[in-house]
Amino acid sequence: MPRKNNETDLDYRKRVIDTKSKSWCAAKWYNATIWLGSGMTTSCHHPPAHHVSVEDVVKNPKALHNTAQKKKDRQQMMAGERPPGCEYCWKIEDMGKDSISDRVYKTVIYDDDDLDKAYLIGAETDVNLKTLEISFDRTCNFACSYCNPAFSTTWVKDIKNNGAYEGLKSDGRNHFTHTHDSAQLFKFKDTNPYAEAFMQWWETDLHRTLQELRITGGEPLLSGYTWQLFEWFTANKGKSQTRLAINSNLGIKRREVEKLLSATQNVELDLYTSNEAMGTHAEYIRDGLDWGEWISNLEYLLEGKQLRGLHCMCTINALCLESLDEFLDLVLAYKKQYGRSAINFSLNILRFPSFQSALVLPDEIRQKRGERLKQWYEKNKSSEFLHEMELNQLQRLIDYLDIVKTPHSESFELPKLRNDFKKFYAQYDQRRGKNFGETFPDLKQWYESL
Ligand code: SF4
Repeated sequence: MPRKNNETDLDYRKRVIDTKSKSWCAAKWYNATIWLGSGMTTSCHHPPAHHVSVEDVVKNPKALHNTAQKKKDRQQMMAGERPPGCEYCWKIEDMGKDSISDRVYKTVIYDDDDLDKAYLIGAETDVNLKTLEISFDRTCNFACSYCNPAFSTTWVKDIKNNGAYEGLKSDGRNHFTHTHDSAQLFKFKDTNPYAEAFMQWWETDLHRTLQELRITGGEPLLSGYTWQLFEWFTANKGKSQTRLAINSNLGIKRREVEKLLSATQNVELDLYTSNEAMGTHAEYIRDGLDWGEWISNLEYLLEGKQLRGLHCMCTINALCLESLDEFLDLVLAYKKQYGRSAINFSLNILRFPSFQSALVLPDEIRQKRGERLKQWYEKNKSSEFLHEMELNQLQRLIDYLDIVKTPHSESFELPKLRNDFKKFYAQYDQRRGKNFGETFPDLKQWYESL
């Protein structure tokens, strides 16, 4: 039983996590994101990804997750030190000693006994994962503004056709200047040592130990590997208790949604989709999205009631705040119509690219947006349809907009970020046939002054 009756997030942290160490987090042991197309991994999904050696995984498939970097991070957590890659959490925790970071949410999902086991085995021993997010390849039909060619073949086309985005000063990692060929070393059906190691580990251990396998992309429904994995579940019915989850932009035709439901009818499936704004705002931010198609697919899934859960991941960026409260109204309306847990939302604060962070906005606009979210919170905080985690994440966002002044510690000063905001969206408009000023009239004057 992860959480005792009526235990708040803070009570839980004090009882289960703080007694291990003041920086301990189960995600470093039991959770990973692994990109099989490039041989990269991280735990959880927040820290920067690092490379996995082919030699290591050929000898030991568990090395896909149990890398030297993660063992070093575990060591630090055991000693109560803060691994620098986990800055996402430290930044939230530094807002106040009772601030709840993702460290709590990424730990509370596991049983207390499993947490004690992880703590006792320490940093060095290889562990079998319990929750895994895996990407087979970067094939994707969208090219969202906050994504880049490492995760989307449509983004690759943008760079190939139009060249590098020019004049960006804060993008030290050059996300928008080249096609990131190292992100896709293997094509579907090529010999891929990482995909082979995953299948080997899956057959020996993971199909038993994994509580949840989440497939991400690109758009995973466009990957041949995803359909192969569905076939494994059909052919091996009842062999694995692993819950299956899939990230999908839901920018797919109805027949593809039907194909998905048919291929997974004997499996417990959670579907995670992304959106954080309404209508034209959403279509601007998530280039490739057809709002009507997205809504229609979402409602089809809600009506069908086959999914174990439907989740909406909101990536909080500078542009979504104009209609985020309306978007939350929409999700709440679906909850009222289909049930409290029929659809859930999470609010994930964007840090990279930093020039798209909400904190780039002028103070006055940012505070007004924060105020609207505060009003939404006050109006709905007693709703029986909202989960504690949803309310906590909203409160966290309100605090974040109010207190935190820089997007992350490596970020450059604000003038550089605003320069990049203007430079990026001017080129984005040209390449994608969009118009910033028409789409975001409330930001137009400020945008044109940059
Ligand atoms: S970023 Fe936070 S949640 Fe993720 S592994 Fe680090 S401490 Fe855990």
